[in-house]
Amino acid sequence: MAKKEFKAESKRLLDLMINSIYTHKEIFLRELISNSSDAIDKIYYKALTDENISFSKDDYFIKIEADKDNRILKISDTGIGMTKDELEENLGVIAKSGSFAFKKENEIKDGFDIIGQFGVGFYSAFMVADKVTVISKALGEEKGYKWESTGAEGYTIEDADKAEVGTEIILHIKPNTEDESYDDYLNEYRLRSIVKKYSDFVRYPIKMDMKTS
Ligand code: ADP
Ligand code: MG
Repeated sequence: MAKKEFKAESKRLLDLMINSIYTHKEIFLRELISNSSDAIDKIYYKALTDENISFSKDDYFIKIEADKDNRILKISDTGIGMTKDELEENLGVIAKSGSFAFKKENEIKDGFDIIGQFGVGFYSAFMVADKVTVISKALGEEKGYKWESTGAEGYTIEDADKAEVGTEIILHIKPNTEDESYDDYLNEYRLRSIVKKYSDFVRYPIKMDMKTS
């Protein structure tokens, strides 16, 4: 399958994330949870104006699953999902919220904590993962799609089976290095404390499901 290239600006942000020496990499979880929360908000507001959608609060949640043996961390939501075009448009471009912070190379060097202050969105996943897979099914669509990337080389999009509307972000967590224990992001207690620290205010339930050998 042909790989599509990221736009130049996105590529620059991605490279920065992949090679990040940023010490608070844990904020990737805040970014992904906030995206999930936004996606649930969107379906919630749609439901308010569309009588064909029934919104039951119990049906809407965010789930964090860790599989230590396979080094996989999955963040899924029952939000509005993304169409094929939306996967392309939304994940192929630089984070809107962070873009202004990445206009100039020297701004990046001088103000690296800008990551912590403003958030860099979805691409922050590449600080802890060497491969990111997104499986999504949008509200009103028959089919789901899978977006996948190992970083700067580009990404692929293909059909995928997904029963329910919503999005799954599957992170293939990097191996440990001398300086960084990526294992932390597969550890239940560590994950719980990151969620508590950054995402305590999220209005939807955040469920945890840990698989350990
Ligand atoms: P921002 O949240 O500031 O727009 P992000 O980089 O975090 O920037 O996300 C980019 C876009 O990708 C979002 O605006 C949204 O349209 C889409 N997106 C990301 N995660 C999800 C998700 N879990 N469900 C639906 N859409 C998502
Ligand atoms: Mg975001």
